[in-house]
Amino acid sequence: MIVHDGLENLLNYLEDTSNVKGNASLVYLPQDNREVLESFKDCFNKKISFTLSSGHTGTTGGCVPLEGAIISLENLNKIINIDQKEQIVHSQSGITLEDLEKEVNKFNLTLRASPTESLAFVGGAIATSASGVRGFGYGSIRKYVIGLEVALTTGEIINIKRDEIIAKGRCFDFEQEGRNFKFSIPSYQLPNVKSQAGYYAKDNMDLIDLFIGSEGTLGVIVSCELKLQKIPFNIFDGLIFFPQEIDALNFVEEVKELKRKGEIKPASLEFFDKNSLELLKNEYSFIPDSEAGVYFEQEVEDETSFELLLLRWQELIEGNKGLLDESIIADTPEQRKRVFDFRHKLPQMINEFLRNNNQVKVASDIAVPDDKFNQMYDFYKKIAKEARIRYVNFGHIGESHLHFNFLPSNDQENREAKEYLKKLCQRGVSLGGTVSAEHGIGKIKKPYLKIMYNETEIKEMTTVKKYFDPLCLLGLDNIFDKEMLASSGRNY
Ligand SMILES: Cc1cc2nc3c(=O)[nH]c(=O)nc-3n(C[C@H](O)[C@H](O)[C@H](O)COP(=O)(O)OP(=O)(O)OC[C@H]3O[C@@H](n4cnc5c(N)ncnc54)[C@H](O)[C@@H]3O)c2cc1C
Repeated sequence: MIVHDGLENLLNYLEDTSNVKGNASLVYLPQDNREVLESFKDCFNKKISFTLSSGHTGTTGGCVPLEGAIISLENLNKIINIDQKEQIVHSQSGITLEDLEKEVNKFNLTLRASPTESLAFVGGAIATSASGVRGFGYGSIRKYVIGLEVALTTGEIINIKRDEIIAKGRCFDFEQEGRNFKFSIPSYQLPNVKSQAGYYAKDNMDLIDLFIGSEGTLGVIVSCELKLQKIPFNIFDGLIFFPQEIDALNFVEEVKELKRKGEIKPASLEFFDKNSLELLKNEYSFIPDSEAGVYFEQEVEDETSFELLLLRWQELIEGNKGLLDESIIADTPEQRKRVFDFRHKLPQMINEFLRNNNQVKVASDIAVPDDKFNQMYDFYKKIAKEARIRYVNFGHIGESHLHFNFLPSNDQENREAKEYLKKLCQRGVSLGGTVSAEHGIGKIKKPYLKIMYNETEIKEMTTVKKYFDPLCLLGLDNIFDKEMLASSGRNY
């Protein structure tokens, strides 16, 4: 197996987009399942922990090791099978979403639920239950995962198919690899919004959902099966600017209402506040004077519905005072790419700002129930006023889920921003929301998880972690402090 040591070979693995800085002594690059298990054994013999690394595009430091070794999945990058009839792709976990999409597109198939960052690996996206710009229309990648092969640090590789292993209430009891697995899942109630904060736990849940979103703490996803869709007949995108923020918010409300009624079915509905547009103006001079912007993506079934839908969106935009002449409606692949790149540029610019100022990310990932969104939005504005730290607020407004990103330019501002973020999370949770809707907890969101779940509930998660990884070798410091793993009953 390929193993590298030496700082120059490791540097690439010691950060993600959170700007958390890591430390490790070596990286394993397994090429197959046997080598994955071999790397576990080697770490065990060396008495070191290890962290799983895929595309390192995560935003919470999950793939960044603080000590020990890295297992990089980049060589597990093969498509195993594409079943055209059933519309299923079976692949190893280390393939990028971009490469996976290219391969399935050859068969007129697509993973439309794909998260925004195409350089993420499919295993990384599943491990964080990522969603992205099409979450509005498609939900998170979780919904499309129908099979997982997971390597456990105890030496087994378990195969989990959706709908096959179901809990009785909160208890699992099943056989795999000649072993009986019996354990309880945490007792908390998940919020009624998309959430990626800690382990998935529900009465009578499917085992596959426990591993999806477990952020590299329970086992290594070595391969997966995903349900695909046919590529839509056509798609058009809109990038619409509004003179006043309230016009954009009214537009969003109307679109959401029409979606609820089933009159339109946009795949995406994304928001940019004035500060986001000001930052983007550094790259895109065409942005007009406006207080807010909205990006949407509309799929079309045939030529007739194309014309009708286009007219419907134009009415909606004009009815809400959108600046139609200065906005963009894109319906060719080239134009659509330009509009999508615009949407994607903002998080990239934020990450660049943080890197240049040597600051760790301080950003919200809060989703609240739709009927509480206005209250949450007012609270963002209140905190922005109080904090007087540069910020941008943007993201998945269709799902009442915004990323309020502080842009601290020094350590003092960063410390203050974290306190304000705590207040935002408290407010989000009090409104029935989650502290993390899609990015996970990783290393930097642990204080906020404690707002959502009490100590007992977090300990219940550590019990599950220790059931699958008894020596606590895997993904240390992700989701829980490693001291918590030691104090809740077992050594590591
Ligand atoms: C510009 C930009 C925009 C983004 N926009 C979005 C967005 O809109 N929505 C969204 O959800 N995310 C978004 N992200 C975040 C990111 O793309 C996702 O979190 C992504 O799914 C992580 O995938 P990765 O391969 O980079 O994983 P990594 O960052 O390498 O790892 C993420 C976590 O998963 C664990 N892990 C990795 N591989 C495995 C495996 N095979 N088995 C078990 N555990 C594993 C790691 O240990 C770590 O804890 C964005 C990122 C960027 C840079």
